[in-house]
Amino acid sequence: MSYKIPLFKLNFDEQEQEAVVATLRSQWISTGPQCEALEKLFASMLGAAHAVALSNCTVALHLAMKLLDINAGDEVICPSLTFVATVNAIRYVQAVPVFADITGPDKINIDPQQIRNSITPRTRAIVVMHYAGFPCAMDEIMAIAREHNLKVIEDACHGPLSEYKGKKLGTIGDIGCFSFFSNKNISTGEGGMLVTNDEALAKKAKLLRSHGMTTMSYQRASGHATEYDVVEPGFNYRMDDIHASIGLVQMKKLQADLDQRAVVRARYEELLADNKALIIPYTGTKEFVSNYIFPVVLREGGKERRDELRNRLHAEGIQTSVHYPAVHRFSIYQPFTRSLPQTELVADTELTLPMFASLTADEQQYIADTLKKIL
Ligand SMILES: *Cc1c(COP(=O)(O)O)cnc(C)c1O
Repeated sequence: MSYKIPLFKLNFDEQEQEAVVATLRSQWISTGPQCEALEKLFASMLGAAHAVALSNCTVALHLAMKLLDINAGDEVICPSLTFVATVNAIRYVQAVPVFADITGPDKINIDPQQIRNSITPRTRAIVVMHYAGFPCAMDEIMAIAREHNLKVIEDACHGPLSEYKGKKLGTIGDIGCFSFFSNKNISTGEGGMLVTNDEALAKKAKLLRSHGMTTMSYQRASGHATEYDVVEPGFNYRMDDIHASIGLVQMKKLQADLDQRAVVRARYEELLADNKALIIPYTGTKEFVSNYIFPVVLREGGKERRDELRNRLHAEGIQTSVHYPAVHRFSIYQPFTRSLPQTELVADTELTLPMFASLTADEQQYIADTLKKIL
């Protein structure tokens, strides 16, 4: 069925089409000048020293584990209320995910106190995920990391240009990882970016994304290199110039898109303020936030009531989603399961309402009215 109001709409126009056609006409479609331009723009917009374009965020997370030398048996503290890729990446290097609970239904990011309680002599790193672009408590988390000599990886897929105390998310820890999957704030179909302020890590990321080879095809084709050595068993995790050219257009639209999302969020907060059945996480946040999604949490009832509500909204033409089923409950993560009461509560009672820059006030009124009627 096609929804009256979908969860997400692409912010695309002729510019993306023209960019792709120009790249096709240039006759260079693999990693090349478009990727380089996207890396430069991304790094400068975030105030990061380095950005490395990759085929998606999942491989960025994998490279982050490799670059920070996380190995078999090492423990990595992570949230369970996240997309499964955050945790799968820990398993790619045979490290052990140690799930830490979120703060609660109004603050659904990882709880620094729970991170502290999860540290053992084998802990090597913390992966945080900035839910919907709302920043994790990075001051506390960085202090814990310094105290215990831990690496910090930011899964910043939800938060391009989101801020924490004046710093852009993804630039606070050792490595930040971003996704340009279709439904993200920056959409290229598939795509990702790794950012770091550490030049050595950036260099190694570039090596590992391309088979561990010391030069790339584009450098050879443009006469800058004729030979290559292979110094690591690397991967093919490259972005190509077709995707990068879409990314460049999307980056230029990003600030305006996010400004409009902030308007959409403020309208939701106002429309839903008197709906006592709902908790709106992060109400009143002052930081600039990307608003990748708009989560609400049911104050009462459990998974059945939430699922029933979603069915009713579906019948009224409103698409919703759940962010996220808790990762520790998936079959493959049973061996790593822990007591995570707040994560389980939110995983069972959260639903995600439509959120995109062109969502109109009338559409939001319809969503708010429909929610009120059903609840
Ligand atoms: C989308 C997403 C990913 C995966 O990104 P891909 O680019 O699809 O690999 C990882 N973590 C979070 C939190 C995400 O939202």
